[in-house]
Amino acid sequence: MPITEDNTGRAGRAHRIFFAIWPDNDTQKQLAGLTKQLRLESLCSGRKIKAENIHLTLVFVGKVYPDRLEVLRDVADSVKQSVLPAFDLVIDEVRYWKHNHIVYIAPGKVPHELVNLEGALRDAISTAGFPLEQRAYAPHITLMRNAFCPALPELAKPIAWRVREWMLVKSEQATNGSVYTPIGCWPLGGF
Ligand code: ATP
Ligand code: MG
Repeated sequence: MPITEDNTGRAGRAHRIFFAIWPDNDTQKQLAGLTKQLRLESLCSGRKIKAENIHLTLVFVGKVYPDRLEVLRDVADSVKQSVLPAFDLVIDEVRYWKHNHIVYIAPGKVPHELVNLEGALRDAISTAGFPLEQRAYAPHITLMRNAFCPALPELAKPIAWRVREWMLVKSEQATNGSVYTPIGCWPLGGF
């Protein structure tokens, strides 16, 4: 009898999984530096996201059992890098979602390569039988949670970031926030 942690009869523990783009070290420093530079903590209170946790989610898959992880990797392999080139993401806007108290930064102009990457991944994951939420894609990079912002600062200078790869990531809850672990990486083509 396999060891299970719930009543589904499936072996192993389900992980919380998502596809995302992670900034390179230099971009990570620049993005994390914005919290201080824009004085977000004193302006909005709340909790800042740790530098290493700063990312852009592509597709949130949710609960995935170990035996389905390989399927998800195959799905990612099937997304053709030849038609998905590397691209520049220019982060130039600071925004706030009142309903979930998140301060985030975003590209004012969403590159079509990002839209195509998200669309190709989403289609392939759905076709493989993983249920996905039907939400419009809103690319964003969270900087603060539990925030209350009476006003928002402007970004003095856009941050341009060359996106060359995308990742499969496991998310775990720890006492001091989420811990993200990359468990797969796929290159974009044409560089
Ligand atoms: P926490 O939930 O601990 O506050 P988190 O939201 O960063 O941290 P997860 O909930 O595991 O961690 O989410 C991982 C990523 O997926 C985050 O970028 C999050 O915004 C995104 N995400 C989570 N749930 C959904 C969802 N239902 N639809 C779309 N994206 C989601
Ligand atoms: Mg969450």
